[in-house]
Amino acid sequence: MDMSGSFWLRCTLCRSEYEATPTTYTCSRCGDAGILEVEYDYDYARTRLGRDSLAANPEWNMWRYLPLLPVHPASGRPNLRVGGTPLYRADRYARAVGLEEVWVKDDGLNPTGSLKDRASALGVVKAMEAGASAVACSSTGNAGSSLAGNAAAAGLPSYVFVPDRAPKGKLAQLLLFGARVVAVKGSYEDAFRLSMEAIRRWGWYNRNAALNPYLVEGKKTVALEIAEQLGWRVPDWVVVSVGDGCTIAGVGKGFFDLHDCGLTDRVPRLLGVQAQGCAPIYRAFQAGGEEWVPEPEETLADSIAVGVPRNPIKALRAVRRSGGEMVAVSDEEILEAMRLLASSAGVFAEPAAAAAFAGLARARREGIVAAGEVVVGIVTGNGLKDVANALRAAGEPIHIPPDLGELERALAGGGIRGCGGE
Ligand SMILES: *Cc1c(COP(=O)(O)O)cnc(C)c1O
Ligand SMILES: [Zn+2]
Repeated sequence: MDMSGSFWLRCTLCRSEYEATPTTYTCSRCGDAGILEVEYDYDYARTRLGRDSLAANPEWNMWRYLPLLPVHPASGRPNLRVGGTPLYRADRYARAVGLEEVWVKDDGLNPTGSLKDRASALGVVKAMEAGASAVACSSTGNAGSSLAGNAAAAGLPSYVFVPDRAPKGKLAQLLLFGARVVAVKGSYEDAFRLSMEAIRRWGWYNRNAALNPYLVEGKKTVALEIAEQLGWRVPDWVVVSVGDGCTIAGVGKGFFDLHDCGLTDRVPRLLGVQAQGCAPIYRAFQAGGEEWVPEPEETLADSIAVGVPRNPIKALRAVRRSGGEMVAVSDEEILEAMRLLASSAGVFAEPAAAAAFAGLARARREGIVAAGEVVVGIVTGNGLKDVANALRAAGEPIHIPPDLGELERALAGGGIRGCGGE
Protein backbone atom coordinates (compact mmCIF):
# COMPACT_ATOMS: atom_id res chain seq x y z
CA MET A 1 0.00 0.00 0.00
CA ASP A 2 1.39 3.39 -0.95
CA MET A 3 1.57 5.60 2.12
CA SER A 4 2.85 8.58 0.11
CA GLY A 5 6.01 8.56 2.20
CA SER A 6 4.43 10.75 4.88
CA PHE A 7 5.26 8.38 7.77
CA TRP A 8 7.65 5.56 8.54
CA LEU A 9 9.01 3.66 11.56
CA ARG A 10 12.23 4.16 13.51
CA CYS A 11 13.76 1.95 16.23
CA THR A 12 14.00 3.74 19.58
CA LEU A 13 17.26 1.86 20.33
CA CYS A 14 19.36 1.58 17.13
CA ARG A 15 17.54 4.23 15.04
CA SER A 16 17.08 1.84 12.06
CA GLU A 17 14.23 2.94 9.82
CA TYR A 18 11.49 0.72 8.41
CA GLU A 19 8.67 1.01 5.96
CA ALA A 20 5.43 1.31 7.93
CA THR A 21 3.59 -1.88 7.01
CA PRO A 22 0.62 -2.70 9.28
CA THR A 23 2.43 -5.71 10.78
CA THR A 24 5.87 -4.22 11.41
CA TYR A 25 5.82 -4.37 15.22
CA THR A 26 9.40 -4.31 16.48
CA CYS A 27 12.95 -3.78 15.16
CA SER A 28 14.25 -6.90 13.40
CA ARG A 29 17.80 -6.08 14.57
CA CYS A 30 17.04 -5.40 18.24
CA GLY A 31 14.24 -7.95 18.73
CA ASP A 32 11.32 -7.33 21.09
CA ALA A 33 13.23 -4.63 23.00
CA GLY A 34 13.50 -2.62 19.77
CA ILE A 35 10.26 -0.67 20.16
CA LEU A 36 9.51 1.28 17.01
CA GLU A 37 8.22 4.83 16.84
CA VAL A 38 6.24 6.42 14.03
CA GLU A 39 8.00 9.36 12.37
CA TYR A 40 6.23 11.85 10.12
CA ASP A 41 7.31 14.26 7.46
CA TYR A 42 6.37 17.24 9.60
CA ASP A 43 6.87 19.77 6.79
CA TYR A 44 4.30 17.82 4.80
CA ALA A 45 1.93 17.38 7.76
CA ARG A 46 2.16 21.13 8.39
CA THR A 47 0.74 21.83 4.93
CA ARG A 48 -2.27 19.63 5.65
CA LEU A 49 -2.95 20.42 9.30
CA GLY A 50 -3.19 24.04 10.36
CA ARG A 51 -5.15 25.98 12.94
CA ASP A 52 -7.44 27.36 10.24
CA SER A 53 -8.11 24.07 8.48
CA LEU A 54 -8.89 22.47 11.86
CA ALA A 55 -11.21 25.31 12.81
CA ALA A 56 -13.08 24.77 9.53
CA ASN A 57 -13.39 20.98 10.07
CA PRO A 58 -16.73 20.05 11.71
CA GLU A 59 -15.68 16.40 12.30
CA TRP A 60 -15.14 16.30 16.08
CA ASN A 61 -13.41 13.00 16.76
CA MET A 62 -9.87 11.60 16.68
CA TRP A 63 -9.78 11.32 12.88
CA ARG A 64 -9.70 15.09 12.40
CA TYR A 65 -5.93 14.77 12.91
CA LEU A 66 -5.47 12.31 10.03
CA PRO A 67 -2.30 13.99 8.65
CA LEU A 68 -0.64 13.09 11.98
CA LEU A 69 -1.99 9.54 12.14
CA PRO A 70 -0.33 6.46 10.62
CA VAL A 71 -3.29 5.26 8.59
CA HIS A 72 -4.14 5.35 4.93
CA PRO A 73 -6.84 8.00 4.36
CA ALA A 74 -8.97 5.53 2.39
CA SER A 75 -8.82 2.74 5.01
CA GLY A 76 -12.05 1.57 6.62
CA ARG A 77 -12.73 2.63 10.23
CA PRO A 78 -14.96 1.33 13.01
CA ASN A 79 -18.14 3.37 12.93
CA LEU A 80 -17.95 4.73 16.47
CA ARG A 81 -17.28 8.24 17.71
CA VAL A 82 -13.87 7.86 19.30
CA GLY A 83 -12.26 10.96 20.79
CA GLY A 84 -13.88 14.36 20.63
CA THR A 85 -14.33 14.19 24.40
CA PRO A 86 -15.05 17.27 26.52
CA LEU A 87 -12.51 19.41 28.36
CA TYR A 88 -14.11 21.00 31.41
CA ARG A 89 -12.81 23.86 33.49
CA ALA A 90 -13.15 22.68 37.10
CA ASP A 91 -12.90 25.70 39.39
CA ARG A 92 -14.33 24.14 42.56
CA TYR A 93 -12.03 21.14 42.18
CA ALA A 94 -9.08 23.48 41.57
CA ARG A 95 -9.79 25.50 44.72
CA ALA A 96 -10.08 22.32 46.78
CA VAL A 97 -6.54 21.28 45.85
CA GLY A 98 -5.05 24.78 46.04
CA LEU A 99 -4.84 25.62 42.35
CA GLU A 100 -6.28 28.40 40.23
CA GLU A 101 -6.89 26.74 36.89
CA VAL A 102 -7.53 23.03 36.39
CA TRP A 103 -9.11 21.42 33.34
CA VAL A 104 -10.56 17.93 33.28
CA LYS A 105 -10.33 16.01 30.01
CA ASP A 106 -13.06 13.40 30.35
CA ASP A 107 -11.98 10.46 28.22
CA GLY A 108 -14.34 8.27 30.21
CA LEU A 109 -16.91 9.49 27.67
CA ASN A 110 -15.41 7.48 24.82
CA PRO A 111 -17.65 4.77 23.29
CA THR A 112 -16.49 1.99 25.63
CA GLY A 113 -15.67 4.34 28.51
CA SER A 114 -11.91 4.75 28.38
CA LEU A 115 -9.06 6.51 26.60
CA LYS A 116 -8.04 3.08 25.25
CA ASP A 117 -10.69 3.49 22.54
CA ARG A 118 -8.29 5.86 20.79
CA ALA A 119 -5.65 3.13 20.52
CA SER A 120 -8.09 0.33 19.76
CA ALA A 121 -9.80 2.24 16.95
CA LEU A 122 -6.39 2.75 15.36
CA GLY A 123 -5.48 -0.89 15.97
CA VAL A 124 -8.65 -2.08 14.25
CA VAL A 125 -7.90 0.13 11.22
CA LYS A 126 -4.40 -1.38 11.00
CA ALA A 127 -5.84 -4.89 11.36
CA MET A 128 -8.21 -4.15 8.47
CA GLU A 129 -5.34 -2.74 6.39
CA ALA A 130 -3.43 -5.97 7.12
CA GLY A 131 -6.41 -8.09 6.10
CA ALA A 132 -6.23 -9.87 9.48
CA SER A 133 -8.76 -12.58 10.35
CA ALA A 134 -8.99 -11.44 14.00
CA VAL A 135 -7.46 -9.05 16.52
CA ALA A 136 -6.09 -9.88 19.96
CA CYS A 137 -4.57 -8.31 23.03
CA SER A 138 -3.88 -8.75 26.69
CA SER A 139 -5.39 -6.19 28.99
CA THR A 140 -6.08 -5.21 32.57
CA GLY A 141 -9.60 -4.65 31.19
CA ASN A 142 -9.92 -1.42 29.24
CA ALA A 143 -7.62 -2.18 26.33
CA GLY A 144 -9.59 -5.37 25.86
CA SER A 145 -13.07 -3.92 26.19
CA SER A 146 -12.19 -1.09 23.82
CA LEU A 147 -10.69 -3.54 21.32
CA ALA A 148 -13.77 -5.74 21.56
CA GLY A 149 -16.11 -2.78 21.02
CA ASN A 150 -14.21 -1.29 18.11
CA ALA A 151 -13.74 -4.72 16.52
CA ALA A 152 -17.47 -5.38 16.89
CA ALA A 153 -18.23 -2.11 15.11
CA ALA A 154 -15.92 -3.19 12.29
CA GLY A 155 -17.20 -6.77 12.12
CA LEU A 156 -13.87 -8.27 13.17
CA PRO A 157 -13.53 -11.17 15.67
CA SER A 158 -11.46 -10.41 18.80
CA TYR A 159 -9.57 -12.45 21.40
CA VAL A 160 -8.83 -10.82 24.74
CA PHE A 161 -6.66 -12.05 27.62
CA VAL A 162 -7.29 -10.53 31.06
CA PRO A 163 -6.14 -11.40 34.57
CA ASP A 164 -9.12 -12.99 36.32
CA ARG A 165 -9.21 -10.10 38.84
CA ALA A 166 -10.59 -7.78 36.10
CA PRO A 167 -13.60 -5.76 37.41
CA LYS A 168 -17.04 -7.09 36.47
CA GLY A 169 -18.01 -4.01 34.45
CA LYS A 170 -15.07 -4.51 32.11
CA LEU A 171 -15.73 -8.26 31.82
CA ALA A 172 -19.38 -7.60 31.01
CA GLN A 173 -18.38 -5.21 28.23
CA LEU A 174 -15.89 -7.69 26.79
CA LEU A 175 -18.36 -10.55 26.69
CA LEU A 176 -21.22 -8.46 25.38
CA PHE A 177 -19.11 -7.05 22.54
CA GLY A 178 -18.59 -10.65 21.47
CA ALA A 179 -14.90 -11.09 22.25
CA ARG A 180 -13.54 -14.54 23.06
CA VAL A 181 -12.47 -13.73 26.60
CA VAL A 182 -9.70 -15.64 28.31
CA ALA A 183 -9.61 -14.87 32.05
CA VAL A 184 -6.13 -16.00 33.03
CA LYS A 185 -5.60 -17.32 36.55
CA GLY A 186 -2.64 -15.10 37.30
CA SER A 187 -1.33 -11.56 36.96
CA TYR A 188 -1.53 -9.11 34.06
CA GLU A 189 2.00 -10.25 33.20
CA ASP A 190 0.75 -13.85 32.90
CA ALA A 191 -2.10 -12.72 30.65
CA PHE A 192 0.37 -10.76 28.49
CA ARG A 193 2.69 -13.73 28.01
CA LEU A 194 -0.12 -16.10 27.11
CA SER A 195 -1.56 -13.58 24.63
CA MET A 196 1.80 -13.27 22.89
CA GLU A 197 2.11 -17.06 22.56
CA ALA A 198 -1.43 -17.32 21.19
CA ILE A 199 -0.89 -14.45 18.74
CA ARG A 200 2.25 -16.16 17.44
CA ARG A 201 0.42 -19.46 17.16
CA TRP A 202 -2.74 -18.23 15.40
CA GLY A 203 -1.50 -15.13 13.58
CA TRP A 204 -4.08 -12.65 14.92
CA TYR A 205 -3.45 -8.93 14.61
CA ASN A 206 -1.47 -7.86 17.70
CA ARG A 207 -3.02 -4.94 19.60
CA ASN A 208 -0.59 -5.14 22.52
CA ALA A 209 0.11 -1.46 22.91
CA ALA A 210 3.69 -1.70 24.06
CA LEU A 211 4.79 -3.59 20.98
CA ASN A 212 2.50 -2.28 18.30
CA PRO A 213 3.96 1.13 17.37
CA TYR A 214 0.72 2.47 15.91
CA LEU A 215 -1.43 2.39 19.03
CA VAL A 216 0.43 5.13 20.85
CA GLU A 217 -0.39 7.33 17.86
CA GLY A 218 -4.06 6.81 18.60
CA LYS A 219 -3.51 7.71 22.24
CA LYS A 220 -1.68 10.90 21.31
CA THR A 221 -4.89 12.35 19.83
CA VAL A 222 -5.99 13.18 23.38
CA ALA A 223 -3.10 15.66 23.52
CA LEU A 224 -3.99 17.16 20.14
CA GLU A 225 -7.55 17.69 21.34
CA ILE A 226 -6.45 19.30 24.60
CA ALA A 227 -4.27 21.81 22.76
CA GLU A 228 -6.99 22.63 20.27
CA GLN A 229 -9.69 22.90 22.98
CA LEU A 230 -7.50 25.34 24.90
CA GLY A 231 -7.22 27.50 21.79
CA TRP A 232 -3.61 26.35 21.27
CA ARG A 233 -2.64 27.62 24.69
CA VAL A 234 -0.31 24.98 26.13
CA PRO A 235 -0.94 24.13 29.82
CA ASP A 236 1.94 24.08 32.28
CA TRP A 237 1.22 20.49 33.32
CA VAL A 238 -0.69 17.51 31.98
CA VAL A 239 -1.37 14.79 34.54
CA VAL A 240 -1.66 11.15 33.48
CA SER A 241 -1.82 7.88 35.41
CA VAL A 242 0.77 5.29 34.40
CA GLY A 243 0.58 1.49 34.12
CA ASP A 244 2.44 0.09 31.11
CA GLY A 245 3.47 3.63 30.24
CA CYS A 246 1.91 3.77 26.77
CA THR A 247 -0.67 6.40 27.61
CA ILE A 248 1.75 8.96 29.00
CA ALA A 249 4.14 8.22 26.13
CA GLY A 250 1.27 8.89 23.73
CA VAL A 251 0.35 12.15 25.44
CA GLY A 252 3.98 13.24 25.23
CA LYS A 253 4.20 12.24 21.56
CA GLY A 254 1.11 14.29 20.81
CA PHE A 255 2.51 17.46 22.31
CA PHE A 256 5.91 16.99 20.67
CA ASP A 257 4.25 16.34 17.29
CA LEU A 258 2.21 19.54 17.64
CA HIS A 259 5.36 21.43 18.42
CA ASP A 260 7.20 19.85 15.46
CA CYS A 261 4.30 20.89 13.21
CA GLY A 262 4.50 24.48 14.40
CA LEU A 263 0.99 24.38 15.89
CA THR A 264 2.23 25.17 19.41
CA ASP A 265 5.26 27.01 20.73
CA ARG A 266 6.15 24.74 23.67
CA VAL A 267 5.24 21.47 25.37
CA PRO A 268 3.68 20.97 28.81
CA ARG A 269 5.46 19.19 31.63
CA LEU A 270 4.08 15.70 32.16
CA LEU A 271 3.16 14.56 35.67
CA GLY A 272 3.08 10.75 35.72
CA VAL A 273 1.23 9.07 38.56
CA GLN A 274 1.50 5.48 39.78
CA ALA A 275 -0.05 3.65 42.73
CA GLN A 276 2.31 3.11 45.66
CA GLY A 277 1.39 -0.60 45.68
CA CYS A 278 2.71 -1.03 42.15
CA ALA A 279 5.11 1.68 41.03
CA PRO A 280 8.05 0.27 39.03
CA ILE A 281 8.20 3.21 36.61
CA TYR A 282 7.92 5.78 39.40
CA ARG A 283 10.82 4.12 41.23
CA ALA A 284 12.95 4.00 38.07
CA PHE A 285 12.20 7.70 37.56
CA GLN A 286 13.28 8.55 41.11
CA ALA A 287 16.47 6.50 40.67
CA GLY A 288 17.32 8.63 37.65
CA GLY A 289 17.89 5.82 35.13
CA GLU A 290 15.96 3.48 32.88
CA GLU A 291 16.41 0.30 34.93
CA TRP A 292 13.31 -0.94 36.71
CA VAL A 293 12.38 -3.86 38.92
CA PRO A 294 9.17 -5.93 38.61
CA GLU A 295 6.72 -5.43 41.47
CA PRO A 296 3.62 -7.17 42.83
CA GLU A 297 0.30 -5.68 41.64
CA GLU A 298 -1.10 -4.40 44.94
CA THR A 299 -3.54 -1.56 44.31
CA LEU A 300 -7.30 -1.27 43.79
CA ALA A 301 -6.56 0.82 40.70
CA ASP A 302 -6.64 -2.26 38.46
CA SER A 303 -5.89 -0.48 35.18
CA ILE A 304 -2.50 0.67 36.47
CA ALA A 305 -1.71 -2.48 38.47
CA VAL A 306 1.09 -3.39 36.06
CA GLY A 307 4.01 -5.08 37.79
CA VAL A 308 5.98 -5.69 34.61
CA PRO A 309 5.46 -2.56 32.50
CA ARG A 310 5.80 -2.98 28.75
CA ASN A 311 6.72 0.57 27.86
CA PRO A 312 8.79 1.94 30.74
CA ILE A 313 11.47 3.43 28.50
CA LYS A 314 9.07 5.36 26.28
CA ALA A 315 7.27 6.60 29.40
CA LEU A 316 10.42 7.66 31.27
CA ARG A 317 11.81 9.42 28.22
CA ALA A 318 8.55 11.26 27.59
CA VAL A 319 8.34 12.51 31.18
CA ARG A 320 12.01 13.53 31.32
CA ARG A 321 12.02 15.15 27.89
CA SER A 322 9.07 17.28 28.97
CA GLY A 323 10.86 18.39 32.14
CA GLY A 324 8.17 16.54 34.08
CA GLU A 325 7.88 14.64 37.34
CA MET A 326 6.43 11.44 38.76
CA VAL A 327 4.61 10.80 42.04
CA ALA A 328 3.08 7.72 43.66
CA VAL A 329 -0.20 7.72 45.62
CA SER A 330 -1.89 5.38 48.12
CA ASP A 331 -5.21 3.65 47.57
CA GLU A 332 -6.72 5.96 50.21
CA GLU A 333 -5.60 8.99 48.24
CA ILE A 334 -7.14 7.46 45.11
CA LEU A 335 -10.53 6.93 46.81
CA GLU A 336 -10.40 10.48 48.15
CA ALA A 337 -9.67 11.80 44.64
CA MET A 338 -12.64 9.83 43.26
CA ARG A 339 -14.89 11.51 45.83
CA LEU A 340 -13.48 14.97 45.26
CA LEU A 341 -13.57 14.89 41.47
CA ALA A 342 -17.11 13.53 41.44
CA SER A 343 -18.50 15.85 44.10
CA SER A 344 -16.76 19.03 42.98
CA ALA A 345 -16.75 18.61 39.20
CA GLY A 346 -19.45 16.04 38.44
CA VAL A 347 -16.99 13.68 36.79
CA PHE A 348 -17.07 9.99 37.73
CA ALA A 349 -13.64 8.40 37.28
CA GLU A 350 -12.56 4.81 37.77
CA PRO A 351 -9.78 4.34 40.36
CA ALA A 352 -6.89 4.32 37.86
CA ALA A 353 -8.17 7.56 36.36
CA ALA A 354 -8.72 9.18 39.75
CA ALA A 355 -5.12 8.25 40.58
CA ALA A 356 -3.99 11.07 38.27
CA PHE A 357 -5.97 13.56 40.36
CA ALA A 358 -4.67 12.07 43.60
CA GLY A 359 -1.22 12.62 42.12
CA LEU A 360 -2.04 16.20 41.25
CA ALA A 361 -3.20 16.91 44.82
CA ARG A 362 0.01 15.36 46.15
CA ALA A 363 2.21 17.25 43.67
CA ARG A 364 0.54 20.49 44.76
CA ARG A 365 1.09 19.70 48.47
CA GLU A 366 4.73 18.88 47.80
CA GLY A 367 5.23 22.10 45.83
CA ILE A 368 5.99 20.30 42.56
CA VAL A 369 3.05 22.11 40.95
CA ALA A 370 2.71 25.81 41.84
CA ALA A 371 -0.64 27.42 42.70
CA GLY A 372 -0.74 29.63 39.62
CA GLU A 373 0.14 26.97 37.08
CA VAL A 374 -2.42 25.77 34.53
CA VAL A 375 -3.08 22.03 34.78
CA VAL A 376 -4.98 19.52 32.65
CA GLY A 377 -5.83 16.18 34.25
CA ILE A 378 -6.92 13.30 32.06
CA VAL A 379 -9.77 11.04 33.19
CA THR A 380 -8.64 7.87 31.44
CA GLY A 381 -11.60 5.65 32.40
CA ASN A 382 -15.24 5.89 33.50
CA GLY A 383 -16.21 5.15 37.10
CA LEU A 384 -19.09 2.89 36.09
CA LYS A 385 -16.55 0.30 34.96
CA ASP A 386 -15.73 -0.56 38.57
CA VAL A 387 -18.79 -0.04 40.73
CA ALA A 388 -17.41 -2.10 43.62
CA ASN A 389 -14.55 0.30 44.24
CA ALA A 390 -16.75 3.33 43.55
CA LEU A 391 -18.95 2.16 46.42
CA ARG A 392 -15.89 1.86 48.64
CA ALA A 393 -15.19 5.51 47.93
CA ALA A 394 -18.82 6.61 48.19
CA GLY A 395 -20.08 5.34 51.54
CA GLU A 396 -23.73 4.54 52.34
CA PRO A 397 -27.06 6.18 51.45
CA ILE A 398 -29.65 7.07 54.12
CA HIS A 399 -31.54 3.83 54.91
CA ILE A 400 -35.06 4.66 56.22
CA PRO A 401 -38.68 3.58 55.78
CA PRO A 402 -40.80 5.81 53.49
CA ASP A 403 -41.72 8.30 56.21
CA LEU A 404 -41.11 12.08 56.28
CA GLY A 405 -40.59 12.14 60.05
CA GLU A 406 -37.87 9.51 59.74
CA LEU A 407 -36.34 11.52 56.91
CA GLU A 408 -36.35 14.70 58.99
CA ARG A 409 -34.58 12.94 61.88
CA ALA A 410 -32.05 11.40 59.50
CA LEU A 411 -31.24 14.73 57.84
CA ALA A 412 -30.98 16.52 61.20
CA GLY A 413 -28.66 13.82 62.44
CA GLY A 414 -26.09 14.72 59.81
CA GLY A 415 -27.11 11.80 57.63
CA ILE A 416 -26.03 13.74 54.53
CA ARG A 417 -22.43 13.34 53.55
CA GLY A 418 -20.51 16.59 53.32
CA CYS A 419 -19.55 17.66 49.83
CA GLY A 420 -15.79 17.34 49.53
CA GLY A 421 -15.54 20.23 47.10
CA GLU A 422 -17.10 22.91 49.28
C1 LIG B 1 -4.58 1.70 30.60
C2 LIG B 1 -5.01 2.71 31.56
C3 LIG B 1 -4.11 3.60 32.18
C4 LIG B 1 -2.63 3.56 31.99
O1 LIG B 1 -2.19 3.43 30.67
P1 LIG B 1 -0.81 2.71 30.38
O2 LIG B 1 -0.64 2.80 28.93
O3 LIG B 1 -0.97 1.29 30.85
O4 LIG B 1 0.23 3.41 31.15
C5 LIG B 1 -4.63 4.53 33.05
N1 LIG B 1 -5.94 4.61 33.32
C6 LIG B 1 -6.83 3.77 32.75
C7 LIG B 1 -8.27 3.93 33.09
C8 LIG B 1 -6.40 2.81 31.85
O5 LIG B 1 -7.29 1.98 31.30
ZN1 LIG C 1 16.76 -1.51 16.55
